Amino acid sequence: MSYRILVVEDEPDLLEAVAFALKKEGMKPIRCADGNEALEVVRESRPDLVLLDLMLPGMDGLEVCRRLRSSEETARIPIIMITAKAEETDAVIGLGVGADDYLRKPFGLKEMVARIRALLRRGEEPADPAPRVLRIGELEVDPARHEVRLAGESIPFTATEFRLLYHLVRHAGRVFTRAQLLDKVVGNDVIVVDRNIDVHISALRRKLKNEGERLRTVRGVGYKFNEY
Ligand code: CA
Repeated sequence: MSYRILVVEDEPDLLEAVAFALKKEGMKPIRCADGNEALEVVRESRPDLVLLDLMLPGMDGLEVCRRLRSSEETARIPIIMITAKAEETDAVIGLGVGADDYLRKPFGLKEMVARIRALLRRGEEPADPAPRVLRIGELEVDPARHEVRLAGESIPFTATEFRLLYHLVRHAGRVFTRAQLLDKVVGNDVIVVDRNIDVHISALRRKLKNEGERLRTVRGVGYKFNEY
């Protein structure tokens, strides 16, 4: 099966270079140069992953990302943001609105492919050999359905957020350093900075509402999820 990758990029040369590199890898690129159009294309063609430029005509990449995440149908599609160097702050915002990873321009096509493969692989791994629903308070984490429910209601989670939460809840009470959590959720072949974990944790707390209080910062160490 060949993966379908939606590339949303308004620089024609970069769009072609990326599409060419993906084809060489046996993947199927879908091209798009406009933010508004990107949303439609995602709904119609259901790509396996979206490469999303930040600065776009029409709707910008952050808004596209936010909308994809807020819709149940598209909430779990992996998203890699593409940013320019000067937009570093925006890259962090990108993760805040639910992107799984980001690439900074100019980026190497090999690195791009490695990150795409890492995210696709993550989607295929079973979260647990014998997945069972984890329950703490009003929270349910369902690895078989890749679903998080709060008081019985499903909440949209990104793939990264899900892995992070699943790991913390599964080992409730144990403290993990940022490095350990990064290793768990991202894998060794993707380079991210420590503070990205903080951004993901903030997103988790926000989404978990009252139950988010269980997610504790352990000063000078990292994070843990409290059972009581
Ligand atoms: Ca652009």
